[in-house]
Amino acid sequence: MSHFNTHAFETHAVHAGREDFIALGIHAPPIDLSTTYPVTDLDAGTASFDALVAGEGHAANSIYARLHNPTVARTEQALATLEGTEACVAFGSGMAALTAVVLAARVRGNHVLAVRPIYGTSDHLLDSGLLGMHTEFVQAEEIEQRRRADTALIVIETPANPTLDLVDIRAVVAAAGDVPVLVDSTFATPVLQNPATLGARYVLHSATKFLGGHGDVIAGVVCCADADAKMLRTVRAATGGLLHPLAAFLLHRGLPTLALRVERAQQNAMVIAERLAAHPAVACTHYPGLGTVRNAHLLGTQMRGPGTLISIDLRAGHDAASAVMRAVKLITPAVSLGSVDSLIQHPAGLTHRMLAPEAKQACGITPGLLRLSVGIEHVEDLWADIDQALKQGRAANITQAAA
Ligand SMILES: *Cc1c(COP(=O)(O)O)cnc(C)c1O
Repeated sequence: MSHFNTHAFETHAVHAGREDFIALGIHAPPIDLSTTYPVTDLDAGTASFDALVAGEGHAANSIYARLHNPTVARTEQALATLEGTEACVAFGSGMAALTAVVLAARVRGNHVLAVRPIYGTSDHLLDSGLLGMHTEFVQAEEIEQRRRADTALIVIETPANPTLDLVDIRAVVAAAGDVPVLVDSTFATPVLQNPATLGARYVLHSATKFLGGHGDVIAGVVCCADADAKMLRTVRAATGGLLHPLAAFLLHRGLPTLALRVERAQQNAMVIAERLAAHPAVACTHYPGLGTVRNAHLLGTQMRGPGTLISIDLRAGHDAASAVMRAVKLITPAVSLGSVDSLIQHPAGLTHRMLAPEAKQACGITPGLLRLSVGIEHVEDLWADIDQALKQGRAANITQAAA
């Protein structure tokens, strides 16, 4: 983690993974699209092959693109620097990244503990038993008593999707004993939180969101120690959940503006959250900066800022939420988050649709809940759009009540 001491985050965001450019005589990351690499010296090639299959992060010869790609490796190096970990392993999506960690954990056992709510598809992947794991969903406070000899992994997400509840990473790590803790830190980004410095073994990002930042790349990364990265690379080489080098290039290209984007969107989100909390159509505004989420006290210690996501529970329920989705003009009604442009979506109907009704209810995914990902547009333009859409929502509801 020594690189944390050398420069500030903003500087690393611009330069990480580009350290050798001057020596190479280049100024933008080269994109290597080779699927295979010439092996002229068989003994040297064999040695490289063995090293890469064993999970080494580099070798004299890349051999085959499923084993190693220099463009992807650059992006990984940049993200390891930003998270303060020894290594980072990139995958074709956030779900491929989570799958690799779960598969790597299977050597320890087949029991997983997870704290709800988490991203809907992560919930589904763990709950379905698709990867041969049995997952129990528990409260963070129950982890110590519920972990077993065969518990292979503990999965938390903070801020959690879609309620924006915070989970105390340090407390979970302490309760986990020697069981590895995976923190899905997608909503926080390395700008606002670095779970590895708090003891998390795996830091997962859906890089599709803030890290890519422009809504044009699907990717997932796991930041961790070298030894764990080796295992993840071995899983990746065997299962093929690769990040394509063009996607890696786009991901790397988004990083220099990461801090700027998150800070501006967060400023916007703070203004919008305050106005939403005072709006008559809104029953409840979930936003860490308003203190309206679980463990909001972790703001300022675990998390350096309240983030850019806001969830609102509309008084008039599902129909009002549906009317707002129809009425927004500037904000795009769509799943996903963390892009430069603002997005709004309905967790119960879309991202968290696969959760059983009881699970939805238990974690506050109500019919009137909308999740807003605030972008970097001018805040007054955003507010004007939200305000007019909420009026449509109320009008729709009044018309319906009268009919
Ligand atoms: C989007 C998301 C994922 C899944 O990532 P993909 O890149 O869509 O596969 C996982 N966790 C969180 C918190 C997410 O928002």
